[in-house]
Amino acid sequence: MPQTLITCGKLFTGVETTAAVNQAILIDGEDIKYVGPKDRAPPIDAGTKVIDHSGDFVMPGMIDIHVHLSYGEARTEEDIDLFASVEFRALRGMEAAQRVLKAGYTSVCDPTTSGRVSLAIRDAIDAKLFPGPRLTCSGQNISTRQGLIDWYPTWIGVPDTSIGRVVKSIDEGIDMIRLQVKDGVDFIKLAMDGDSMNPASIRLSCAFRQEEVSALVAEAHRLGRKVVVHARGSEGVLYAARAGVDLIFHASWMDGQALEAVVKNGCRICPTLNLMVNTIEFTRSTDPCYPSLVDAHKRELEAAAKNLTKAREAGVEFLVGSEAGFAVTPYGEWNAREMDNHVKYLGFSAGEVLRQTTFNNAWFTRDADCVGVLAPGRRADILALKKDPILDITVPQDKANIAAVYLAGEPVDLTPNLKRTRLPGEFSYAMWNEVYTRARVENFHNAAE
Ligand SMILES: [Zn+2]
Repeated sequence: MPQTLITCGKLFTGVETTAAVNQAILIDGEDIKYVGPKDRAPPIDAGTKVIDHSGDFVMPGMIDIHVHLSYGEARTEEDIDLFASVEFRALRGMEAAQRVLKAGYTSVCDPTTSGRVSLAIRDAIDAKLFPGPRLTCSGQNISTRQGLIDWYPTWIGVPDTSIGRVVKSIDEGIDMIRLQVKDGVDFIKLAMDGDSMNPASIRLSCAFRQEEVSALVAEAHRLGRKVVVHARGSEGVLYAARAGVDLIFHASWMDGQALEAVVKNGCRICPTLNLMVNTIEFTRSTDPCYPSLVDAHKRELEAAAKNLTKAREAGVEFLVGSEAGFAVTPYGEWNAREMDNHVKYLGFSAGEVLRQTTFNNAWFTRDADCVGVLAPGRRADILALKKDPILDITVPQDKANIAAVYLAGEPVDLTPNLKRTRLPGEFSYAMWNEVYTRARVENFHNAAE
């Protein structure tokens, strides 16, 4: 196997929360053979390629645990579910996955997709038809009435092209889980509740009863699949934690009782503050969701910062995920911002967050024992940065700071796809923001005079 020696200015292995200086990594084919002080590296022969990152900060390729490849940078829920064909979403999602890779993410986890879109992207990358990050995927989001995904009026229902499936009994839920496992999902995603955009779930009570959640989680575990839930409200967190769920997204309104259940059952939390932070900061007054969603997200962010800080103090393990896929969280643009959110709103140190993005996140991927840490026997998925993110956690957000990305020892082509465009058919046919009555028209005519 061809060998490569990488010399590192600073090396962060993912094991500690600090970096060491004057280190080296020896790669043999796709795998790491040695990591440690440069002067103790095994002798190399004339055929060994040497790559100089002695001025750079070298770390494991980052992992984003919350990317929706099928969403297509959607502006509305209808954009996600209705307009582009499922087949087009798969091809579009492949390019999205490549953009996230070029931003330094060598592994990506996609919880919630339309049809089998992210599974198809995963398999096409595995088959080496296209370059892309390592993918770990769920199928459609499973929920019940009033949960996330039950957006549309009763007379429309949940379309087949939706990112979710509504199940109406334990039996239906169990059958859906078995079907998804048959189709090859890596894990199961359940939506415990909705969010501030879904008028049906404004109270954020849990859409399922405890016995239903427990039965579904037990079946997924029996079939060897981890379970992640969407739960913003306290009841959803409590029921999911009692059911022994593996990972909880959001947990914004988790109360003391729910936190106790999270700690007792060893559940991990991935807050995903990015969607809220970006919505608050980027939404223009001309956007239809202004100011209602901005205000709702300000309230939720405040609650999340308070409640998740308590979870940090209680020793809960945190994962990092960005919710890339919406118009306000485009692929490869803001993924690394979530690390800054963990520092700013939750009180973690930059070193702790880097470890969450690598070591902790690896645990939820299907490649848990070969990614996330730079150590002998692991895959050579490596990110080299021109500046030190432990000194400034915003460093990985700027692509100018990315010196190189290696996937299984191979350098990734970082050239951006500047020709990418959006087709009109991908999006809802939105025409006007308001109703032009005689009074309204007279009003703006008068204002113009
Ligand atoms: Zn999500």
